[in-house]
Amino acid sequence: MSVAGKSGLVFGVANDRSIAWGIAQALAADGARLGFGYTVPVLESRVVRLAQSVGSDWIEYCDLTSDDSIADTFESAREHFGEIDFLVHSIAFAPRDDLTGRFFETTREGFLTAHEISVYSFLALTRACLPLFPDGSGSILTLTYHGAQKVMPSYKVMGVAKAALESMVRYLADDLGPQGVRVNAISAGPVRTLASGGVKGFKDFYRAFPDAAPLRRHVTQEEIGGVARFLCDEDSRGITGEVLYVDSGFHVLGAMADLDR
Ligand code: NAD
Repeated sequence: MSVAGKSGLVFGVANDRSIAWGIAQALAADGARLGFGYTVPVLESRVVRLAQSVGSDWIEYCDLTSDDSIADTFESAREHFGEIDFLVHSIAFAPRDDLTGRFFETTREGFLTAHEISVYSFLALTRACLPLFPDGSGSILTLTYHGAQKVMPSYKVMGVAKAALESMVRYLADDLGPQGVRVNAISAGPVRTLASGGVKGFKDFYRAFPDAAPLRRHVTQEEIGGVARFLCDEDSRGITGEVLYVDSGFHVLGAMADLDR
């Protein structure tokens, strides 16, 4: 099956390295009609350029910290699209100081910001998009990282936030399943993006990753995009509440070094 003829909104494109951009390209290549929400004002021109390159003419700013802004964004989407079939949330942020210091020193402000932007925004966008879904269907997707499950280098408060996000996926899946709405997450391996550049030690971990991961290589935007496309289309209609890893198998390891090799 495919997403041809389906419509959906993608939140989280910052530039052409963004995971959200890989997802958008996969969906657009399969025939989906897309709208783009950008969540940091300075990104506007880049997002407009990329969105237009896949034929999108709905590109709206959305302040994730404002219920009014979220309501306005989805009213605009309703006017433009009528109904939509899927929503992609690919957004995370934690203040740099809270990713570089000792974990126990995480500030109240940093903790709250990380959870508001990276976790609550998923609930808020989910709530806002529900009235736009056709009766009995809809697919909602977010992006997470293995730092939710295990301690990963310098991930700190972001790991705590991703654990909350993964739990939210399960609670939303249970809440919305009876109305046919599915909620899933992709847990991606490390990808060089603006966001990952903010994680101290990311470069070293990224460099070492292919030596350890079972597939012996990084994952690509295209691979993550392909799984996102699958989760948005009917082929995945039996899947909800799931965290699907696209990480070259890294998450099955108990240690980085293989002592047998
Ligand atoms: P990215 O920088 O391209 O995208 C992050 C998005 O978050 C951007 O669109 C940005 O506008 C938004 N954002 C950042 N700060 C914000 C703020 N203060 N307020 C509102 N929005 C803000 O990076 P990415 O790596 O593509 O990240 C997308 C998602 O993928 C994130 O949830 C991230 O945690 C997740 N992820 C990334 C990796 C990786 O290695 N890059 C791995 C697993 C999961």
